[in-house]
Amino acid sequence: EQEEAGVWYDGHELAMKLYHHLLVSSPEGRKAREYLRKRGFTKEMIERFQLGYAPDSWSFLTDFLQKRNFLPRDMADCGLLALRESDGRPFDRFRNRIMFPIWDKSGRVIAFGGRVLEADDKPKYLNSPESQVFNKSRLLYYFHGARPAVKRKNEAVLFEGYVDVISAFRAGIEHGVGALGTALSEEQAKMLRRNADRVILCYDGDEAGQKAAWKNAEILKKSGLEVFVAALPEGMDPDDYIKEYGADRFADTVIGQPRTLMEFKSVYLRRNKNMSQEADQLRFVEEMLIEISRLPKAIERDHYIRRLEEEFSLSYDVLKQEMKEHVQNNV
Ligand code: ATP
Ligand code: MN
Ligand code: MN
Ligand code: MN
Repeated sequence: EQEEAGVWYDGHELAMKLYHHLLVSSPEGRKAREYLRKRGFTKEMIERFQLGYAPDSWSFLTDFLQKRNFLPRDMADCGLLALRESDGRPFDRFRNRIMFPIWDKSGRVIAFGGRVLEADDKPKYLNSPESQVFNKSRLLYYFHGARPAVKRKNEAVLFEGYVDVISAFRAGIEHGVGALGTALSEEQAKMLRRNADRVILCYDGDEAGQKAAWKNAEILKKSGLEVFVAALPEGMDPDDYIKEYGADRFADTVIGQPRTLMEFKSVYLRRNKNMSQEADQLRFVEEMLIEISRLPKAIERDHYIRRLEEEFSLSYDVLKQEMKEHVQNNV
């Protein structure tokens, strides 16, 4: 099994170099170069993240690997190639896509994310299938590269997408990593916890992103991290924001002044409510009290109850009583 894994790493390393070469200096890669240029990717970013291009062919990588005596079976097992169902013949899994190599903790390429160039091609992102070396829930995109900065700053920034990690890096945020997809595992949280005390969640400013931020904040907190949440305008992701408002504003404001977890919750729980309506106000207060009841320190609980008292002109004693009932439900 050990030997097999060696071949898997070699195959991925080779594919990464080939795709990268195609992107930066082949005629086939022109469209992809053009696409990345339009999106604002610089040469340095393309190099650092070893971006590549998989050509529009069913046999390009397959032939290349076969010529180098890689066995189709091995290459299919590690997800580099796919096998035709009818006769088991190998073919290129990634076609006409921008390729994002995915590294493991020690910096070995073990998978790819492939993005379409055309907006209406589906799916937008295609990731390598899971294998013995590629376990999505045990891996964070660019962790091996960001780790020194994470340790130095005692902080990590967690993004949703590859592109966000790359754009943020260019904006000077060198301690950013990506969760592949929106669900975060305990294991990923522990990876961060082992290297830093704080984490900033910087998820897309849409319903799905904010919902994921809420869920992941709990997981990160449970692992002992202090959690902050960066605020993005509705409908924007970090990459959009940097393009619209610039790197400095992103670094200074979005990442530099993130919300505390309770501030984030207070904003999040107002989503999809009409706060000028009494019924929704009361629903909001109810939901906030549940969150407040879960805070470990009495002084914190008191602080947030007073905020509700002020904002909604409610009686402190009633709020406190209500909150206490939730505390009892918690234990
Ligand atoms: P872009 O700016 O290139 O459109 P994005 O990062 O903004 O990319 P999102 O749609 O916000 O794209 O998705 C965030 C992340 O979720 C992606 O980077 C990818 O890891 C994952 N993802 C999105 N769509 C898919 C999909 N169809 N299959 C697997 N993973 C996906
Ligand atoms: Mn290069
Ligand atoms: Mn996005
Ligand atoms: Mn985006």
